[in-house]
Amino acid sequence: MRMFQVCVCGQPLQCNERPTPQPTGTQVLLKVLAAGVCHSDLHLADGYFDLGGGKRMSLQDRGMNLPVTLGHENVGEVAAVGPEVKGVKVGDVLLADPWIGCGTCAVCLRGDENLCRAMRSLGVFSDGGYADYMMVPHPRYLFGIGDLPPERAAPLACSGITTFSALKKVPTLKDEPTVIIGAGGLGLMCLGLHQKMGGHSAIVVDIDPAKREAAKRAGATAVIDGGASDAVQQIMKLTKDSAGVWAAIDLVGSSASARVGFDSLIKGGKYIIVGLYGGDFTVSLPPIPMRALTIQGSYLGSLPEMAEMMELVRRKGLPDVPVTTRRLDEVNAAHADLRAGKIVGRVVLTPA
Ligand SMILES: [Zn+2]
Ligand SMILES: [Zn+2]
Repeated sequence: MRMFQVCVCGQPLQCNERPTPQPTGTQVLLKVLAAGVCHSDLHLADGYFDLGGGKRMSLQDRGMNLPVTLGHENVGEVAAVGPEVKGVKVGDVLLADPWIGCGTCAVCLRGDENLCRAMRSLGVFSDGGYADYMMVPHPRYLFGIGDLPPERAAPLACSGITTFSALKKVPTLKDEPTVIIGAGGLGLMCLGLHQKMGGHSAIVVDIDPAKREAAKRAGATAVIDGGASDAVQQIMKLTKDSAGVWAAIDLVGSSASARVGFDSLIKGGKYIIVGLYGGDFTVSLPPIPMRALTIQGSYLGSLPEMAEMMELVRRKGLPDVPVTTRRLDEVNAAHADLRAGKIVGRVVLTPA
């Protein structure tokens, strides 16, 4: 089998080959049918996240061992199963939840494997789906996709669950407008899931007119240029008495987007940071208690949330996120396009 791996941080992915492994115990071997290209793959390939002020968070310090096969948004067909596997069989087409914890700590046992301190995530800390085959350690991480096309379902594994989990943190989702900052692949997924979940209305913010247009077409109630000097005022004008919004989900996570999201809140409002663009921002402390504001990080999603989201999309259909497919062996070109900001929606790799 071929696999596209980070061998040296900051260098293009290398195509390496090895014999296709056979599953043992509870393992399930998938033939990869679709592997989504996520923006965080660029950070993984670079080997760090920007913390602002010239500081970096090294991924190798956090447990990423090289070489590693990237690709954490995968749908595959079961090619073989270990002797202890129950509930899936050869030929099933399934989505793999890549956010795998140690499985034994208190955090994992309560269902929050995405917050485990010893994660084994597929495509980050263990080999993922930029490959012909991939191994999943247990069938509980696999979910049926019903009639959904594999290349359109694959982004649910990261883009989908990340935005679903953020939307679950909005108590006013069905009653008040929600601000969504960023209208790239993640933003359109968030907007689509917001609609499937019965969201009241969505104000989408992006600095790129093409992305605002895409959000408008996808059903955003209003779109705002995040680069405008009065972006906050424009958002507030769309709310009752111009008082501000109850929730802003920031899918960018830059110094500028944090400013817009946090400053748009009403008393009691919540700013939820999801994006990992990087940077920092300064806030005055007294207004946080006096206005009862919440700043909350949201990282990926839990296994129970994955089950809930998959049930929702099997019943109500997929968010209408534009998907472009490219061959697996074009992964480095796909990364370059993503880095250059040339991609509207999602790129998904399919077998070469
Ligand atoms: Zn991702
Ligand atoms: Zn754990």
